[in-house]
Amino acid sequence: MHSFHYQNGTLHCEGVDLAALAAEHGTPLYVYSGGTILDHFRRLSGAMGAELDCLVCYATKANSNLAVLNLLAKEGAGFDIVSGGELFRVEKAGGDPGKCTFAGVGKTRAEIELGLKKGIYSFNAESEAEVAFISQVAGELGMVAPIALRVNPNVDAKTHKYISTGKSENKFGIDFSSIREAYARAAALPNVKIRGLQMHIGSQLTSVSPFVEAVEKVLPLVEELKSLYGIEFFSIGGGIGIVYQDSLASGGSDWWIAKDEKPLTIEEYAGRLVPLLKPLGLRIILEPGRFMVGNAGVLLTEVLYEKRGTAKTFKIVDAAMNDLIRPALYEGHHEIAPLKEPVAGKTEVVDIVGPVCESGDFFAQNREIPAIETGDRIALLSAGAYGFVMASNYNSRPLPAEILVSGETATVVRKRQTLDDLIAGEVVPG
Ligand SMILES: *Cc1c(COP(=O)(O)O)cnc(C)c1O
Repeated sequence: MHSFHYQNGTLHCEGVDLAALAAEHGTPLYVYSGGTILDHFRRLSGAMGAELDCLVCYATKANSNLAVLNLLAKEGAGFDIVSGGELFRVEKAGGDPGKCTFAGVGKTRAEIELGLKKGIYSFNAESEAEVAFISQVAGELGMVAPIALRVNPNVDAKTHKYISTGKSENKFGIDFSSIREAYARAAALPNVKIRGLQMHIGSQLTSVSPFVEAVEKVLPLVEELKSLYGIEFFSIGGGIGIVYQDSLASGGSDWWIAKDEKPLTIEEYAGRLVPLLKPLGLRIILEPGRFMVGNAGVLLTEVLYEKRGTAKTFKIVDAAMNDLIRPALYEGHHEIAPLKEPVAGKTEVVDIVGPVCESGDFFAQNREIPAIETGDRIALLSAGAYGFVMASNYNSRPLPAEILVSGETATVVRKRQTLDDLIAGEVVPG
């Protein structure tokens, strides 16, 4: 479910008119629907938690605005973090470090120390060298570190190669063939306590079968680790895909959107996985990122110019790849919805491009969309995950503002950067 729809001729997020919001705050502008995020969290934890001891650890990296984290912290969510910076954010947002799992292949000494001092739930380690180092750092602090190992089950997630993580050729996790020895060696270390097993096979999975395949492959290992080391949890990672060719919510037109993607539903995910996981009698951890926030956010932008070439028509907008890099980075798709409700039938095939000096700076190519003119504003849909968090100052463009909507209320949850922000911390010698 999401909450973007036309009402009285303009695109709305919940009860807030996005055209008015863009006029007031300028563009480019990120807008998130709090109601959508809560709905996703509640439906997922409800479906999985009905029969399992299930902790949803939101993958902070998908969207780490304090307001988003706070919304989830108040719901009792845990957090999957990948850096000391994310742990800092989670705490500032009111999250419980005791419900944090720490992922990532390259944890530094400073990050391990921070995690230990804050009392995180588990370090999910991705190599034997890392486990040894965690034990050493914990020993120096006179502490014992709770750990899990990340197993690479060598399963094809059938997603884009840049977001596939569960094959032997990926840098993530410990090979399935050597995981048992890795646990045996970890168990012999003085300053770690084995708490669980983790895996995460990739992102934007649109079918349940790779999840089922990975869980079925790993189940005997989980049983074994439970009896050998008394593990408490099994984390099956994140990766639940969303529909990028998404329809708008009821109450308006979206006739130009193809809608031929099939969603992976929560009912199907829980329906297939709960029966496999329940007999384990362990705590099950989920680490969804994109599923929670992807369809809950849009990026608003204004058409600055039109350029009609011999081969193409370009609509040049004021957002760019520095604001939203998914199309350039992994061919990410975003639907385009004019803020003014479009008249049925009038379309044009265009490229939507930004002002940055790179040919990869585009949001849509050869896309048939409703006719739009210079000065019109549009929304790039499904921009809530891996959007703002990947934004940069490339081309010395200030970062956009972020707004969180709840019902009729819109709050600026991050101010637009100023020109002075761009040079903060820089020094000219002499
Ligand atoms: C990125 C990541 C996730 C979240 O992935 P989504 O596809 O956004 O659900 C979960 N777990 C780990 C270890 C990750 O690196």
